Amino acid sequence: QTPPGLPLRVEDVEKRFGGVTALDGATFSVEEGSITGLIGPNGAGKSTMFDCITGVHTPDAGSIRFHGEELIGKEPYQIAQDGLVRTFQIARELEEMTVLENLMLAPKGQIGESAWRSVAPVARRGVVKQEEQIREDVWETLEFFEIDHLAGEYAGNLSGGQRKLLEMARALMTDPEMVLLDEPLAGVNPTLEEKLLDRVHDLREQGYTFLFVEHDMEVIMENCEHIIVMHQGKVLAEGDADEISENEQVIEAYLGE
Ligand code: ADP
Ligand code: MG
Repeated sequence: QTPPGLPLRVEDVEKRFGGVTALDGATFSVEEGSITGLIGPNGAGKSTMFDCITGVHTPDAGSIRFHGEELIGKEPYQIAQDGLVRTFQIARELEEMTVLENLMLAPKGQIGESAWRSVAPVARRGVVKQEEQIREDVWETLEFFEIDHLAGEYAGNLSGGQRKLLEMARALMTDPEMVLLDEPLAGVNPTLEEKLLDRVHDLREQGYTFLFVEHDMEVIMENCEHIIVMHQGKVLAEGDADEISENEQVIEAYLGE
């Protein structure tokens, strides 16, 4: 059983790609209402871990439980329905739609990048929202992310940072409990970066939980109260920013990058 307050529990997860061991018995938990950072040098297994948690890959061994329920074997859209979503890059089909249309579609459908497969076909827990309610939620979300002035703009015309805000907005439209962010600041200018991080903190105040992969160590140290360090497919260390920055094994792992 997953202890209360630790909704996500990853245990002894292994994943091999041919001869490459990407995950080699990784174990960690994510605390409810936290912003938890997942870091590690290149090739540590962070993206593979995200893909395993969100049902994109099936691990070879181990278990991944969300509120005690096994996620391994579930489809990405089922995991999204359970309340665990990740942000996805805006797919090409969606670039030809407006920001407003992108958000209108999200709760019914396509948060995935392979638009019609990794989908959350209905809002969480099988409740299909009425169009009017969706419209209201969409405008609220647009205003929250301060992209309401872009509602009529084609997604394909957005800047890197505006796209990231839209990606997060789309993920939120599915009414999640936990959001997995895979390098959400890549290609984002400093002004929008701050805005994006502010929104993450606002949402955490509202009770959302975040698992945050980011290459920029400083961003992780400043924004995450708990940090998990992966190395060679395993969890090397866990702790707060002070503990992690003083950890000899962590320093060594990064030096070898
Ligand atoms: P990170 O995101 O921490 O940089 P990854 O999860 O992308 O690490 O990769 C972990 C290891 O698994 C690396 O050695 C990488 O080359 C390998 N790997 C990841 N995905 C695949 C794949 N689809 N096929 C083969 N090897 C892969
Ligand atoms: Mg990666």
